[in-house]
Amino acid sequence: MPECLLASRLLARHGARAAFSLRTGGVSPPPFDSLNLGEDIGDAPAHVAENLRRFASAAGLDVPPHRARQTHSVRALVCTGAGCAHADEADILIGLDGAAVAVRTADCVPVLLADIEAGVVAAVHAGWRGTAAAAAGRAVSLMCDHGARPERMVASIGPAIGPCCFEIGADTARALASDDGETKRHVRHQGGRHFADLQALNALQLRQAGLNESHIERIAACTCCDARRFFSWRRDGAGAGRHLAVVALVGRA
Ligand SMILES: [Zn+2]
Repeated sequence: MPECLLASRLLARHGARAAFSLRTGGVSPPPFDSLNLGEDIGDAPAHVAENLRRFASAAGLDVPPHRARQTHSVRALVCTGAGCAHADEADILIGLDGAAVAVRTADCVPVLLADIEAGVVAAVHAGWRGTAAAAAGRAVSLMCDHGARPERMVASIGPAIGPCCFEIGADTARALASDDGETKRHVRHQGGRHFADLQALNALQLRQAGLNESHIERIAACTCCDARRFFSWRRDGAGAGRHLAVVALVGRA
């Protein structure tokens, strides 16, 4: 069977499971071929359920992860126990007591976080709106409310649309690059066009929230360039399949 995920080596070394789904290894027909994990975009529920089972199993989970309705916000949901698809709206899912949490993406940045000692994990969905609203930094702060500490946290920033393809309008460029010099470095201006590096902006937010540089991993991939491995909203439109990014503590999910 083709591979269905990319695992985070950094989080594995620290004792957490973190994985980003690929589009391969599932059962859905085009345009959702084949490992679509989006539950309400027109794919057959039985296909999505089988895809989820395969992905969760390959990620080493005994139960499906918690998922929420995502709205490009910084709303958070705190999860415990076995996962399900919540009706709640949230783009930050905090997992306690071994709960596995996941976010859905198609070009947006998935950020997975863990503090093993505190037993707290988080999954963040950060498109340009979430990035402009500092969703990743908010997740770090919420984890601290549950006993985590930034200097112990490890983070993996998953496959997302790269600065090669993520062309944005002038307003979005302004929203992403504030007055401080650091964010400006990750928004490129070229002949009246603007391109943003969302992964780099999220890495910056994690460092600013107190994470050690060596505790932040970036999975190098552009979802829009690489049609063989990834779904892409920018490339395929609103009907694009969806990826899941999941994090859990080893041996507790
Ligand atoms: Zn690209």
